[in-house]
Amino acid sequence: MTTPMTGNMADQALRARALKVVPGGMYGHESTVLLPASYPQFFSRAEGAYIWDVDGNRYLDFMCAYGPNLLGYNNARVNDVAVAQLALGDTMTGPSAHFVDLAEALVGMVSHADWAMFCKNGTDATTMAMTTARAQTGKRRVLVAEGAYHGAAPWCTPMPGGIVPEERAFISKYQFNDIASLEAAVAAAGDDLAAIFAAPFKHDAFVDQFLPDPAYARRVRELCDQTGAMLVVDDVRAGFRLIRDCSWELVGVRPDLSCWGKSFANGHPISALLGSDSCREGASQIYATGSFWFAAVPMAAGVETLKILRESDYLEQSVRLGSQWRAGLDALAAKHGFALRQTGPVQMPQILFEDDPDFRVGFAWGEAMLRRGVYVHPWHNMFFCAAMTEADIAFALEAADDALGALRAQRATLEPHPVVMMMLGALAGEH
Ligand SMILES: *Cc1c(COP(=O)(O)O)cnc(C)c1O
Repeated sequence: MTTPMTGNMADQALRARALKVVPGGMYGHESTVLLPASYPQFFSRAEGAYIWDVDGNRYLDFMCAYGPNLLGYNNARVNDVAVAQLALGDTMTGPSAHFVDLAEALVGMVSHADWAMFCKNGTDATTMAMTTARAQTGKRRVLVAEGAYHGAAPWCTPMPGGIVPEERAFISKYQFNDIASLEAAVAAAGDDLAAIFAAPFKHDAFVDQFLPDPAYARRVRELCDQTGAMLVVDDVRAGFRLIRDCSWELVGVRPDLSCWGKSFANGHPISALLGSDSCREGASQIYATGSFWFAAVPMAAGVETLKILRESDYLEQSVRLGSQWRAGLDALAAKHGFALRQTGPVQMPQILFEDDPDFRVGFAWGEAMLRRGVYVHPWHNMFFCAAMTEADIAFALEAADDALGALRAQRATLEPHPVVMMMLGALAGEH
């Protein structure tokens, strides 16, 4: 059943060319120096639940473009609408009518939201959440959970390159799910607290995932109410993957602001800041804009995607398939003598190996799955899309059976990966 690989000559050639004209050849989360050596860097196409690298190898894709693919790549309904709008106009001197349609659709679906503002990337939305909170409250300090990802701007990037401490002078840390650490950080902020940022669940890289303790989530709300600070839920990654609403509706807590991106236009480039009336005034004071922020195509795609989310069982299906994948993998791990730590919601799984502090087993697992036509990630949470089927899960489990069998034989000879060690060191130094 192993998918024959057609090699990686085209990928290698592109990497060599990129090295000459792109610093480091690639950057950020797309940099494959953070992945096992055999992972492809370049892709030629994507359809449904599958991606093809530039050498023509096909993979069942458990990364979903790191989140944007929610309904399946090339979803026909979304793309038809996008192509039709493209023929009419995309980036124009002002937005199209879809601007208002999309704002109405999001405000209609997300309980806490009374208004929407659109931007391009998740980082735009989280940064606007911060400035909106400061404009609304007239205060400066912002609390974020240790290790939580909120984007790549100087105030929040996880890597230290090019950042000066002054850019984070008003950012403080607390521990996710830890009420005492939150209260201490709020107390330390005194009367200068503008916002508390919360991840919908702890979905940090390299570690187990945790759902929010409802008592912790309620305490975040109370502390914001007591201090006048704005509560921000960063739903850029988890938005519409847990519920057709803001993710913290699941714990009964409504934020003042929520950040959206990645998937709500099924991969078309758009993000959003949603807010309640508690900070409408602040939002109207910030200067937020971008040349491409008002493009009509992604907004048309967003309106259609949201319609599909309301009409279809995409969410229930991803939970059903995610449960099958998790249970099947646990059984296969036991069969082959491995213990897995599978955490997070089943439709956004994190799969780590027990007793694998330097990720050498995780990396070998990733490579073994890749050779068998399944793209998994060794240290980042993964994603289900609505195009996945039971047959795909059966295919992935067959690959996993074979891969874990091979891994068992290989285990004693595995070596740690130097770049991962460097990355873990850099993240530890960040704290
Ligand atoms: C990806 C992500 C961001 C940043 O989004 P970009 O579109 O990459 O700028 C912010 N917050 C969370 C939780 C994310 O997963």
